[in-house]
Amino acid sequence: MGAEDTSGTRDTGSTHGAEPAEGRGTARRALLLGGAAVGLGALVLGHDELGRLWGHRPRISTPREDGVVDARGAQWIAASGANWRRADRPADYDIDRVVIHVVQGEYRTALRVFRDPGHGAATHYVVRKDGHVAQMIRELDVAFHAGNRAMNERSVGIEHEGFVDRKSSFTHAMYASSAALTAGICRRYDIPVDREHIIGHVEVEGTDHTDPGPHWDWERYMRLVRRERDRKPARATGTPA
Ligand SMILES: [Zn+2]
Repeated sequence: MGAEDTSGTRDTGSTHGAEPAEGRGTARRALLLGGAAVGLGALVLGHDELGRLWGHRPRISTPREDGVVDARGAQWIAASGANWRRADRPADYDIDRVVIHVVQGEYRTALRVFRDPGHGAATHYVVRKDGHVAQMIRELDVAFHAGNRAMNERSVGIEHEGFVDRKSSFTHAMYASSAALTAGICRRYDIPVDREHIIGHVEVEGTDHTDPGPHWDWERYMRLVRRERDRKPARATGTPA
């Protein structure tokens, strides 16, 4: 039940539905922007200029650079722009949830569908069986992953290679790497490390998705996240997050 049923999209290997309300909102905003630009007499205004005129958006969006990742060690592989919405979190939306997903497929399947503009959904991160992490959407932005607009706006989504009904999908390397990723997110946005703030897709209100499923070892995962959070970020390489 819930909004996802009205989308008419069929999942292609991933467990994710589209977010129909999101698309409509974006279209309406685009129309408004178009109207404003015409009213100002053929002036071509960029996002920042419009924001200044309107006075109710953040004046300066956080600068972005191609290939920059939020999580140290992650590999940047951009998702299709159709599967997320540009934002400036946490300036415009507070981030206070991490949502755990399972692909119902392989790592490369997740990459493929998240790069497909027709898919209508994607997560910020995809974790491979061997612990490798791809970042596909900046944490600044709203990814369409939870099938619930409010949850998308407040959360970071992490996808895990594998299948909900296959316990062997969830390797130690995957748990460890995902836990470090989640601990970093919790540190960046001051999110409490507990099961109220780190949730499964199945726990999102109105969802009909079951991931990460009964074989996801929450106790083990939360223990690893806590351990990572308590560890001083002491590695000398890289820039501070
Ligand atoms: Zn999911």
